[in-house]
Amino acid sequence: MIKYIVSLDNANRHLIDVCMVIEQSLEKGQELWLPDWIPGSYMIRDFSKNIVSLSATSNGEPVNLVKKNKSCWTLKENVDLLKIRYQIYAWDLSVRSAHFDDQHCFFNGTSIFLALRSYENSEHFVEVIQPSKLGGEKWKVATSMPYSSINSFGFGRYSCDDYATLIDHPFEISDYLEVKFFVNDVEHRMVFTESPKNIDLERIAKDVQRVCQYQCNFFADEKQPFDDYLFMTFVQKKGFGGLEHMSSTALHCSHDDLPKLGDDIDKKSRDYQSFLSLCSHEYFHSWNVKRIKPARFEAYKLQQEIHTELLWFFEGITSYYDELFLLRSGVITEENYLDMLARNITRYIRGNGRIKQTLTESSFDAWTKFYKQDENAPNAIVSYYVKGGLVALCLDLEIRKLTNDNKSLDDLMRLIWSRYGKKNIGVNETDIEKLAEELVDKPMKKFFDRILYSTKELELKSIFELMEIDYQLVSESKQMDRGGYRKKAIESNPTCSLSITHKANPVGAEIVTVLEGGSASKTGLSNKDIIIALDGYKVDSSELDKRIASYPIDTEISVSFFRRDKLYHRLCHLTASEANTCFLSFKNTSPSAAFNLWAKAK
Ligand code: ZN
Repeated sequence: MIKYIVSLDNANRHLIDVCMVIEQSLEKGQELWLPDWIPGSYMIRDFSKNIVSLSATSNGEPVNLVKKNKSCWTLKENVDLLKIRYQIYAWDLSVRSAHFDDQHCFFNGTSIFLALRSYENSEHFVEVIQPSKLGGEKWKVATSMPYSSINSFGFGRYSCDDYATLIDHPFEISDYLEVKFFVNDVEHRMVFTESPKNIDLERIAKDVQRVCQYQCNFFADEKQPFDDYLFMTFVQKKGFGGLEHMSSTALHCSHDDLPKLGDDIDKKSRDYQSFLSLCSHEYFHSWNVKRIKPARFEAYKLQQEIHTELLWFFEGITSYYDELFLLRSGVITEENYLDMLARNITRYIRGNGRIKQTLTESSFDAWTKFYKQDENAPNAIVSYYVKGGLVALCLDLEIRKLTNDNKSLDDLMRLIWSRYGKKNIGVNETDIEKLAEELVDKPMKKFFDRILYSTKELELKSIFELMEIDYQLVSESKQMDRGGYRKKAIESNPTCSLSITHKANPVGAEIVTVLEGGSASKTGLSNKDIIIALDGYKVDSSELDKRIASYPIDTEISVSFFRRDKLYHRLCHLTASEANTCFLSFKNTSPSAAFNLWAKAK
């Protein structure tokens, strides 16, 4: 029997105490290991670096457990029972690892549960001890892990059939706020840690319920592939992100993302819409990536990178549907949806990375490029989330075109679900293309070659023509300009731009990224340069964009900046940026029949 006893007595030092008890005979040479990455987040994170002490005993006597490499230990003697006590430093405020203080404890199994090599398919037990100090007496346990014996606060014993399941049920333990709803009689819980007390829980639950219900209907099964579902959200002043699991998700959001009691319920802010799309995204992952998954992702290969070209499918398709489902379930309006779509297109076209890296390359190199982005990322890589989402739109419309609107991407998803996800068969690298061809009964190689394996521009214009939507690309006028929905397409005159992003610095405006081909790039300005004056007059980050936009196009100005604390003055020829900001508008007073057929499909 493999059991972990988790104690939470060291909140101030952020140390989680684990006692792993293995009640069986083990031979010399037996290995124990900890994952180096967590499924869903494709970067080596070396969780073992957070183990600050580890010792092993058998029947009270010390046992020789020696480190083999950074995250693997070898037993140097035969034992008939093994106890390993270790402490984990838990101070990573993210959905990917573990975080513990006197306000809450969150952990993923990948950060705290050692695996016993060759016994990964055995049943694993967890016992979480209720903390007695530091306000811990008010804490409750939220997890989707099946329990065997717990008290009314959720402390006690849990169990999983195998190690892969064990690490797919994170825990949030705190004095959280909670709301419940049902989808097809299946209980869904949402817990919010450190949220403002006045968030409108009922409103959030009502909106999320509609989205979840729509998704369950989408797959047309009698019930969801899980017995219950848990959204656990950590609320910060500023934060955003999520990680999917089999029957739960860990989310981070900002205070402003959540509606408050007394807000106008007819209005949904962009921030709240993005929180809803995050919930929608992670919930859809319960099917797409947790159950329909790449064949290359084998359960216990968590100590090295696994490369797949398919992340465009698992993240891009999910990104496409997370927003579309909000519209289809009636949670947002058509205008809200066009706003989201336009801003996604802006994210895609802003930066030359899209003409250098294909979607499949982006997916394959996620570990070293997408997850390790630096200041040059917009010029070098394309996001498999953002381009993947737009490719999903193109694929959806292509299937509709080739089948005279008899089939759509929805049918392809249901086909993949029934052939792969439901049967627990992994998806091979070229299976999506083959299934799409089978669905439409026509060759699609040329189409897939273009969208997946080339850097050719996506044919978005023709899609919007068909939908009777005005698709406008204009030059950015300031760094925060992300485009969006407009009631009517308006002609706007391009203004000068440095084509950079920047942030406030005590001295001036510190450059973060420089887009290739823009005025700043041609002048040789770079990341970390601090612009202090334009034509000799002091400037800071808050007024830089406005001051630049006030010059006529083709003006030459002097830019003064610090680089490595040395002052430089350079002449800069100001031009407008490329047309890299997207606005979408309905051509007519109401959405076209083609739009409704696609976007509001039931
Ligand atoms: Zn995702």
